Amino acid sequence: MSENVLISGAGIAGPALAYWLRRYGFTPTVVETAPAPRPGGQTVDIRGVAREVVERMGLMHQIRDRQLHEKGLEYVSASGRRAAAFPAELMDGAGPVAEIEILRGDLSEVLLEATTDVEYLYGDSITALVQDDRGVQVSFRRGGERRFDLVVGADGVHSKVRSLAFGAETQYVRNLGGYGCYFTIRTPESLDHWMKIYTAPGGRWVGLRPDHDPQYARAFLSFRSPELTYDRRDVAQQKALLEQRFAGLGWHTRQVLDGMHEADDFYFDSSSQVVVPEWSQGRVVLVGDAGYCGSPLAGHGTALSLVGAYVLAGELATDRNHRTAFPQYQQVMQAYVEQRMELPPGGLKMAMPMTAAGIWLRNTSTRLMTSRPFRGALAKAAAVKPDAIDLRDYAHPTQEADGVTTGLTQSIPSRE
Ligand SMILES: Cc1cc2nc3c(=O)[nH]c(=O)nc-3n(C[C@H](O)[C@H](O)[C@H](O)COP(=O)(O)OP(=O)(O)OC[C@H]3O[C@@H](n4cnc5c(N)ncnc54)[C@H](O)[C@@H]3O)c2cc1C
Repeated sequence: MSENVLISGAGIAGPALAYWLRRYGFTPTVVETAPAPRPGGQTVDIRGVAREVVERMGLMHQIRDRQLHEKGLEYVSASGRRAAAFPAELMDGAGPVAEIEILRGDLSEVLLEATTDVEYLYGDSITALVQDDRGVQVSFRRGGERRFDLVVGADGVHSKVRSLAFGAETQYVRNLGGYGCYFTIRTPESLDHWMKIYTAPGGRWVGLRPDHDPQYARAFLSFRSPELTYDRRDVAQQKALLEQRFAGLGWHTRQVLDGMHEADDFYFDSSSQVVVPEWSQGRVVLVGDAGYCGSPLAGHGTALSLVGAYVLAGELATDRNHRTAFPQYQQVMQAYVEQRMELPPGGLKMAMPMTAAGIWLRNTSTRLMTSRPFRGALAKAAAVKPDAIDLRDYAHPTQEADGVTTGLTQSIPSRE
């Protein structure tokens, strides 16, 4: 029996896993390096099997209450004129704007509200893990040691658990040649529910997305660049780097930079992929970005986290043995993860051209693709393929014809 589970990271995957473990009678503890729940982030989408997982969690009402409705994506010029656009309805929820969109911070809040019976340790992190046959001895940054049956790394792209139990980050994380940051500002213009992106030569994006409050916007700055050296904890240094890269550009760049300096929900990271061949090492396992991440360009990070947490908890609950559950979790998830990590055609080069001619070409081809004669073909090409995973209902095992119950030994009541 493996009952006490330490989860590192209270982003999306961590609280989602804690939710299911609690529901199956485990005792999860979540340790989060930030001093409090981290707000902020852009809109993320919930579709396909991820939507089914949210339904099974009984959280669809809460998600729908906080849902945002974006009309589409608009590319604007330096003067703010519309250069090209992908209206959401054109692609039936399959394009850059999806069917259920929610701010990352709102989703995180919903998951935290659903796990108030879970122990969260904020402002702390794991410094050492020692495994033996019976469990894992964990040391914490703020001092002290505790023993757990299992440890889960849900601590994102730069996972500490992964570096402790699997090896150096350089083996698993590949920078795709880009960086991006997200933060909230007072909006410099009414967005009328549109996401707007101004592309400047040098592969630079200045973007605004709607917030619930029309006086605010979710801003982002992204740029293409070879690997940079910077301190991930030094926010002032990151803001200075962005100021240097973006100063002097058109549209609302100045207001966005000014807003960035005041923002308290600033988040900066590289556009990186994470590929880990084996997701578990003994009693330690990875979930979400820590174990598999296609980068913001591929998208689907939230979906992979929600589904990964669901499958990992379900497999653990099936016979309460991590030795069989961990490989089974990876086997169930593998094809889906590979499918959703695929990058869009052209990658960063296509989306963020380096030259004025490249920007013109992207805008012209976008206008052509979204023009009446080509819309059908575009919708067909953009249609999201069915998810490559069969979502087993771990909480409600089926009665087989001979009366043998598969899956869990008893049905788990819903907490709705
Ligand atoms: C503040 C924030 C804003 C984001 N905004 C966007 C966005 O706008 N668009 C987008 O596509 N993706 C965004 N992401 C990433 C996105 O949430 C993930 O790609 C995806 O949802 C997978 O979730 P995850 O739980 O695996 O990772 P994450 O959501 O990244 O969560 C990882 C958590 O682990 C914590 N952590 C890190 N190191 C340690 C440690 N050593 N010990 C304990 N805890 C640790 C982090 O603080 C974080 O809370 C954001 C992430 C964060 C943290």
